[in-house]
Amino acid sequence: MEEWVEGSGFLVARLVREGVVDGVERAARVYGRVRSWEDRVRGFLSLRGFDGFLGVVRAGLERGGPLSGLVVAVKDNIIVEGFPATAGSRMLEGYRPGFTATSVERVVSAGGAVIGKTNLDEFAMGSTTELSAYGPTRNPLCLDRVPGGSSGGSAAVLAYGGADLALGSDTGGSVRLPAAYTGTAALKPTYGAVSRYGLIPYANSLEQVSPMARRVIDVALLFEVISGYDPRDSTTLNHRWEGLAERLARQGPAEPGSLKLCVPEELLAAADPTVARVVEDLLSKLDWQGASIERVRVPILRHALPAYYTIAFAEAASNLARYDGSYTPCRARDARSWEELVVETRSKCFGPEVKRRIFMGAYVLSVGYRDMYYIAATRLRRRIRDEMLRLTRKCLVVTPASPVLPPRLGERLSDPLKLYALDVMTVTANLAGIPALALPAGRAGGLPVGVQLMGAPLGEEHLLRAGLLFELEAGAYMKVPVEG
Ligand code: GLN
Repeated sequence: MEEWVEGSGFLVARLVREGVVDGVERAARVYGRVRSWEDRVRGFLSLRGFDGFLGVVRAGLERGGPLSGLVVAVKDNIIVEGFPATAGSRMLEGYRPGFTATSVERVVSAGGAVIGKTNLDEFAMGSTTELSAYGPTRNPLCLDRVPGGSSGGSAAVLAYGGADLALGSDTGGSVRLPAAYTGTAALKPTYGAVSRYGLIPYANSLEQVSPMARRVIDVALLFEVISGYDPRDSTTLNHRWEGLAERLARQGPAEPGSLKLCVPEELLAAADPTVARVVEDLLSKLDWQGASIERVRVPILRHALPAYYTIAFAEAASNLARYDGSYTPCRARDARSWEELVVETRSKCFGPEVKRRIFMGAYVLSVGYRDMYYIAATRLRRRIRDEMLRLTRKCLVVTPASPVLPPRLGERLSDPLKLYALDVMTVTANLAGIPALALPAGRAGGLPVGVQLMGAPLGEEHLLRAGLLFELEAGAYMKVPVEG
């Protein structure tokens, strides 16, 4: 078996199709891992009962398709009929949506079995999953550390083997940081590649529903299934990646000699030396094999973090205006007027970070300050995008996925700026709308280090093929036995 599919969900699905592996028995073993890990990790906010789960596995096997036999976890800001959708907020407690997100519909039509909904920072605002109203998720690789965020629940569940694939959302790094901290892989697709119908919005101009898995080939498989035009999301592009995973499996990793990589000095310098060293070591291996590696200066990237947060706050404030709280069980009990109900419910049912963002967003959009903050940020965004489009036309841009090793629980909570700083590597791809892949680069002191590759718009295939090479060279991916 080719190394790049060993231990992958892609291979499991193939073996199930060929009748070599019993899909139901294997899925039951995956469920067993959830049972043995979940108390310690708390990756799920809601989980299907065992019998119900086996029912959807069987249905997926009967339906057939590329995900038949595979177990899929879904971040709780993506809507699945029959499950609650809290988005990690008390504001949405008790909400039972009567429809399903397009991305999830596609997973189910492809034969995948949804096992449950995973924890996240409230409304996907955060980088550690500690800001969930339902308590933090722990990193299964090291229980006193965070799994990254905001899609930390999905990443943690993948890392302990409680799912083969997972859906997350990425507004400024929310699948890539969790991948970096849990030794898994994730792709933030080109803006518009995947439908956001059924995603509870945080910052629409930045975010994408995003595939997560333990192996790059599986990220490709899930991406292929969920991407493509959707009449229910007018921002989707008319572009499909049919046969992507099969093609990658057949053709294998990119030839090192064909790879042109650019490493922005500003971003490498922003990483802790321990993290930078792991990424540098991997780059030297690739260099030795014939990849071309160019150090570049992209000074505008220093403004990516403030530009991102200004825009994200503004969009968050607009999006969250919809929650008047009249329907939530968390609502204020003895309000005397509608205004009072709204004010008191929003004060009570939103967490402190969400409220901070509503205030900041209203501020940067307010008369007198709009030009100074919001408009200035959109201008920076345009320059960052132009620069990244220029760069990704000639090379893949390589950075660490996170500037630091997975933080300890509580370590980043005292000061919001410390939390926001975790996103310094990842926000650029969202501002530019370009695809970005995070995958394991190696370890430092036993903890995982992730590397990020950014490519040209719609350049996912090239990006993933390069990812296969990085993955094999690093050799740091999880070696989970196929039998689950
Ligand atoms: N940490 C970033 C934020 O809080 C990104 C979150 C995300 O990608 N959803 O905005």
